[in-house]
Amino acid sequence: MNIHEYQAKALLRGYGAPVSDGRVVLRAEEAKTAAGALDGPLWVVKAQIHAGGRGKGSFKEADAGEKGGVRLAKSVEEAAEEAKRMLGKTLVTHQTGPAGKSVGRIYIEEGSDIERELYLALLVDRVSSRISFVCSTEGGMDIEEVAANTPEKILSFSVDPATGYQPFHGRRIAFSLGLTGPQVKQCVKLMGILYTAFVERDMEMLEINPLIVTDKGDLKVLDAKLSFDSNSLYRQSDVAELRDETEEDPKELQASKYDLNYIALDGEIGCMVNGAGLAMATMDIIKLYGAEPANFLDVGGGATKEKVTEAFKIITSDKNVKGILVNIFGGIMRCDVIAEGVIAAVKEVGLKVPLVVRLEGTNVDKGKEIISNSGLDVIAADDLKDGAQKIVKAVKG
Ligand code: ADP
Ligand code: MG
Repeated sequence: MNIHEYQAKALLRGYGAPVSDGRVVLRAEEAKTAAGALDGPLWVVKAQIHAGGRGKGSFKEADAGEKGGVRLAKSVEEAAEEAKRMLGKTLVTHQTGPAGKSVGRIYIEEGSDIERELYLALLVDRVSSRISFVCSTEGGMDIEEVAANTPEKILSFSVDPATGYQPFHGRRIAFSLGLTGPQVKQCVKLMGILYTAFVERDMEMLEINPLIVTDKGDLKVLDAKLSFDSNSLYRQSDVAELRDETEEDPKELQASKYDLNYIALDGEIGCMVNGAGLAMATMDIIKLYGAEPANFLDVGGGATKEKVTEAFKIITSDKNVKGILVNIFGGIMRCDVIAEGVIAAVKEVGLKVPLVVRLEGTNVDKGKEIISNSGLDVIAADDLKDGAQKIVKAVKG
């Protein structure tokens, strides 16, 4: 789960990290009061979306102005004006895709005088099964670009969980970032703060780009992107409260309410499958026969008729879906339950695209019987290959 920059900064401030003072604005009429609560002489007005690259982004609407999603203002009035201009508009960055993201919140913060921009991240490194620090002198840039062009400018190392964070980790980062004097001490402290927050809050990623050195020589967190392990939200209730549902794919949001493992993709064939492995195999075989999956969907082992119905509704609500492949291996899941769910869903939402159903396993005969007696226009398939070929043919001709 991701949160907004202003929420991330508030969370890190709570751990003692140096961040600027700021106010969030949800409605245009709040903008002036928010900006007025901050000391000038410089205000920074920042669109809050769950995507990076805002500064270099652009708005779809002409009346949002020419500048990107991070704007400098020299007075309270100007800051309020920029906030109003961006609210409700669609910001496109290299991370949002061409559709962009609607800006529902603006963060106004005090401007900083920047001496240097640095990069810092903490992440869960799956290879070493440890938390890693990643840092670079090339802050404010896309780290993927730095990694591709000048990998020698990135330092990365993992922390042994048996010792946890130690001051030498912080000194190693400080020296690689070229920090000197009191900055080294600040860096050692800040890295410890970030590591503690990362572990305590079950984060998956923490990215500060840029971490800056101010004109006075102090370190400051100027941008913050945090993502949390969704599986731990049950014990992170205050983090869970920060969830902004408007930032999420509505289909994925609906799926999460029914405890379905659903990921929206760009293809044309909707898939309803049980088991993550079978779902992956189904996506692979659809690709093998020349089409693209519209989603990953694992309805799980003990799915009920209601859950199957909901899954089917989510698939059919996707306008890109030109055909549906139901591929179920009934182990714990029973084929007749799937069949009933599919029929209930079709009765409710109708069926405007070809549907191929492949059932195998527990109660398969009962399941097939339910489908053939339903009078629905369903194409039956015998195995995975047959099912994939039939749905691709039905869609592509
Ligand atoms: P994004 O990464 O989405 O583009 P950032 O928060 O990193 O957004 O802002 C982009 C750039 O804007 C930063 O690299 C920095 O140069 C400038 N900037 C951001 N916040 C401030 C601030 N409070 N004061 C001065 N400059 C800022
Ligand atoms: Mg940034």
